Amino acid sequence: MDISEEYKEQHGFTPEKIADTMMAFYEKIDALSTRIESQLAEHGMKLTCHAGCCACCRDELTVTRAEAAVIRKLFPTIGKEKPHAPGACVFLDDRGLCRIYAARPYVCRTHGLPLHLSIPRDEAIELGMVNPEDVPEDAEIEFRSICELNHEHIDVEALPNGMVLSSEIAETQLGLMELCTFGEEKRIPMRSFFLSDT
Ligand code: SF4
Ligand code: SF4
Repeated sequence: MDISEEYKEQHGFTPEKIADTMMAFYEKIDALSTRIESQLAEHGMKLTCHAGCCACCRDELTVTRAEAAVIRKLFPTIGKEKPHAPGACVFLDDRGLCRIYAARPYVCRTHGLPLHLSIPRDEAIELGMVNPEDVPEDAEIEFRSICELNHEHIDVEALPNGMVLSSEIAETQLGLMELCTFGEEKRIPMRSFFLSDT
């Protein structure tokens, strides 16, 4: 159940405030990402990520409503521009650059980094990562991952924990922010910014 507009207004949950809170969260994520990137560089491992490298900018990405508030605040007219054709992120321009870079969501800020992830057993079985008989029914499957383009020169399994970003912790914080603000977790397809007024 969503909380009422009146409650949100009384408690200061204005779109502006929600966007500011999320941007404060992004600042912390960016600082953490910079620290990990510097540590990797100190050990001779440079990330491939650069402007124009957009293989990770997929079409089906979604954002939380708080992340959407940042996009609306920093790029209020983006929905009036021409969306990227289906097959890649709707916010990409024709040079492969992100049109909402300053407001890009959490997943885009961390995708190139070495990540520690956790997914439910059923999802892991569907992806062929585990055999059903090897894991209990309520298990969460933990694993490390990195973009294929960075995987070529970074052995993610060999890294110390301090050089791997825990997506589980960051996503839990994102979910908590959504719960505290809206009363429930809900994600919005990025493509919906270019349709009506979601
Ligand atoms: S929001 Fe920007 S960085 Fe994220 S997937 Fe879309 S184009 Fe790429
Ligand atoms: S995550 Fe991969 S595809 Fe995305 S910018 Fe980095 S190297 Fe390129």
